[in-house]
Amino acid sequence: MNLLGPAEIRDLAEMLDVTPTKKLGQNFVVDANTVRKIVKVANVEAGDAVIEIGPGLGSLTLGLLEAEARVVAVEIDSRLAEQLPKTVAALAPEAELTVVHQDALKVTELPLAPTRLVANLPYNISVPVLLHLLEHFDSLTSGVVMVQAEVGHRLAAEPGSKIYGSPSVKAEWYGDWRIAGTVSRQVFWPVPNVDSVLVGFERRADQIGTLEERALTFALVDAAFGQRRKMLRQSLGQVLGGADVATARLEAAGIAPTARGEALTVHDFLGVARAHLAAIG
Ligand code: SAM
Repeated sequence: MNLLGPAEIRDLAEMLDVTPTKKLGQNFVVDANTVRKIVKVANVEAGDAVIEIGPGLGSLTLGLLEAEARVVAVEIDSRLAEQLPKTVAALAPEAELTVVHQDALKVTELPLAPTRLVANLPYNISVPVLLHLLEHFDSLTSGVVMVQAEVGHRLAAEPGSKIYGSPSVKAEWYGDWRIAGTVSRQVFWPVPNVDSVLVGFERRADQIGTLEERALTFALVDAAFGQRRKMLRQSLGQVLGGADVATARLEAAGIAPTARGEALTVHDFLGVARAHLAAIG
């Protein structure tokens, strides 16, 4: 199949009168090798139910369809969402594609249950989109996404490292994350002013906690990293009802009240949440 190159991308953009906007993170991939690399790293197989967020002009979508995936693509920009089925009909008439014109942060139902996420995410909302999809689509078991390098390294960071933060712990709730490759700025139009990486994830076979536990764990994580320099007994006190209560819950979970959030795994935060929920009945 012919994938889209720089000339095709520019022609399509011109035809649609699309000037890429920063607000929507519109940096389109114009290199077929990069598209095929992403599809390969994501291990996409024929028949896979893939969700793509932000298909744009269709560069990656066509790569996924070339691998014979069944694709549901969620695009917020109406001009792009309307054009994509036409582009695909012309280049890959047999392909199985459904385009959903919606904000990915609001999507809670799809025409198929996606098992893989493969996307070049809009960079300004990449973490919220990932967490939203993992929260709402239990069928999603793995994925490979292109994100800003700094965000990718945060998602894959281990406790104790400088860049370990709220996205790292929340991502860890759902499974394992790894850096799966780097991508040159030159494969995009327009060329972005940040580096990009591919991040892969595998969802855990079993949830580590209930929805109630997750909500409290995430609130604790936000409090801990919102005030990174403070000791946990202070930062968590804001959520748990004071430093004394936080100290008791941390001790019950076997964590030093003087520790800081960057030292804790998701299981540690979950332990504190469980201690609190048990104590308040
Ligand atoms: N996949 C295309 C590619 O690789 O060339 C485009 C990727 S571009 C980095 C991000 C895409 O996400 C754009 O098409 C943009 O319009 C779309 N987008 C931005 N915010 C979105 C949102 N909230 N929901 C769905 N799509 C969004």
